[in-house]
Amino acid sequence: MKETIYTIPVNDAYDSECDCPICLLKQRSEEKELDYYLGPSLMEPDTRVITNKTGFCPNHMAKLNKRVTNRLGLALVLHTHLLDFDSDISEDLKNSAPNKASLFKGRSSDYKHVLNSLADRIDKRVASCPICEKMNDSMSHYNETIMYMFSHDSVFHEKFCNCKSHCLPHTASLLRSAATRLSQNDASDFVTAIASSNKSSFDELEKDVEWFTLKFDYRNKEKPWGNSKTAIQRSMKFLSSDGGDFVDS
Ligand SMILES: [Zn+2]
Ligand SMILES: [Zn+2]
Repeated sequence: MKETIYTIPVNDAYDSECDCPICLLKQRSEEKELDYYLGPSLMEPDTRVITNKTGFCPNHMAKLNKRVTNRLGLALVLHTHLLDFDSDISEDLKNSAPNKASLFKGRSSDYKHVLNSLADRIDKRVASCPICEKMNDSMSHYNETIMYMFSHDSVFHEKFCNCKSHCLPHTASLLRSAATRLSQNDASDFVTAIASSNKSSFDELEKDVEWFTLKFDYRNKEKPWGNSKTAIQRSMKFLSSDGGDFVDS
């Protein structure tokens, strides 16, 4: 099968030992974007026009802060974003304070609408994020590529069927992609493979988390942990996808 910019990372992710290849693709795409927004993007006027407007969502703001590289670049982006946000909302915020009701001027509920719509505007701006947008775009291409390779590339087909697991959020995204892109026969193999690996993941995690809880019983104190020490983190990754926040304790 012809290699594209998406088939190589997809193959790499499915070749690697991980709990969810799509989480891995997502992490790699996020790393790439974080590098870009702390590096080359700062020199690109077109990108700066966008980040002046959008800033970054709270999740990516925290991830940018965690990287200690290029503090000056981060400060420059934040400075222009603060100026833009300030000029957009500060005046409206001041003007949205309602007049006080008095004997002469009755009560009015108009202010409630004004406050709610300003709050919506602020929320929308806080959530807007070019990193999220680019990642969503990449992930939708990866999903498309997985579907195409599953139907046209027998080596990948086999690889997918032998994949250890997918987390639940990515199981849902795979099912959606299968519903729109796979024929009924391909969907049959695809869903059978996912159902089997998912069930194994549930069984393994249920057993490991249960043993984690049983280790708190003094009678089990001396017995080996087995795989249970990381059971909480692995369960959280399976239930909510791996954003890199669940560090094994
Ligand atoms: Zn995942
Ligand atoms: Zn974001």
